[in-house]
Amino acid sequence: MPTEFELIQQHFTHATPRTLLGVGDDAALITPSPGQVLAVATDMLVGGRHFFMDVDPESVGHKALAVNLSDMAAMGAMPRWATLGIALPKADARWVAAMSAGFMKLARRHGVDLIGGDTTRGPLNLCVQIIGEVPARQALRRDGAKPGDDVWVSGALGDAALAVAARNQRIKLKPADRKRAQQKLDWPLPRIALGMALRGVARSAIDISDGLVADLGHICERSGVAAVVAFECLPVSAVMRRYREAPVAQAALLGGGDDYELCFTAAPAKRAAVERTAARTRTRVTRIGRVIRAPEGACKVVVVDGDGLPVKATQQGFDHFR
Ligand code: ADP
Ligand code: MG
Repeated sequence: MPTEFELIQQHFTHATPRTLLGVGDDAALITPSPGQVLAVATDMLVGGRHFFMDVDPESVGHKALAVNLSDMAAMGAMPRWATLGIALPKADARWVAAMSAGFMKLARRHGVDLIGGDTTRGPLNLCVQIIGEVPARQALRRDGAKPGDDVWVSGALGDAALAVAARNQRIKLKPADRKRAQQKLDWPLPRIALGMALRGVARSAIDISDGLVADLGHICERSGVAAVVAFECLPVSAVMRRYREAPVAQAALLGGGDDYELCFTAAPAKRAAVERTAARTRTRVTRIGRVIRAPEGACKVVVVDGDGLPVKATQQGFDHFR
């Protein structure tokens, strides 16, 4: 079994071309670009809680970074540096090699340097910190939504939650469908290009990690507004389309976590600009609703059906302590 230092040397020490000093010292040294502020986020993945323990370790490494990159996308930031804190029950070199390969492949694709971390024994847990850059006034925040804004969402919703439901035997999917949903769950693709292209176009943004209703709800709370979403307009994959009548699928669409799509608001005058942004970044975007003044101060999300009647949000967002 390798020692802690062998693990670090073999699996976590990589070239860091965009960094003054990377792994190997007491701290890394980074040089922010002139005119940019740093966007910093942390997201933790706990074995057995955020991923099934038997999942492909390469996807674990990918996802640990992907969920953090998604936070950068939601801020309109360009990701640049990451640190990786990891607790392992044992020094399983093969598992670590595969995990680190998944992590590094995605890091290289986005020009992110792994600049440090910590390695310790403990229940399986990966904690990534990501640092990105964005011009201060162009950061996409949760508190910028205004009544009258359109609500948009990238990609398609609910597939990852559908995969979890299938795994927990709450719904039965055809094997090919299950595989495709599982792919979305295990290998999410953060919307970095879209996020950066939405600078100066979107007025607020969030990434959907806890479900559309919950996460759009966060925009509403921070912005002091409410939102109306048309259930019929929600973008679905070919897989989801086959199951969307099932209550489990509807819950996945509205409240399922792990989509890592962007939900953002923009003034109606920016519709053409949003469409151009989407075309340029080859990302599907869909207009799903509208921001309204908060009725009686209630900053909530109302989902309506084709007749304008409220759809029960059968599942609220995921909360670890509920
Ligand atoms: P310290 O004793 O100062 O905490 P460590 O021995 O834990 O230092 O780590 C040595 C170097 O390896 C540091 O630069 C640290 O950032 C880096 N490092 C440790 N674990 C990881 C990891 N999982 N991923 C990336 N870098 C790591
Ligand atoms: Mg240490």
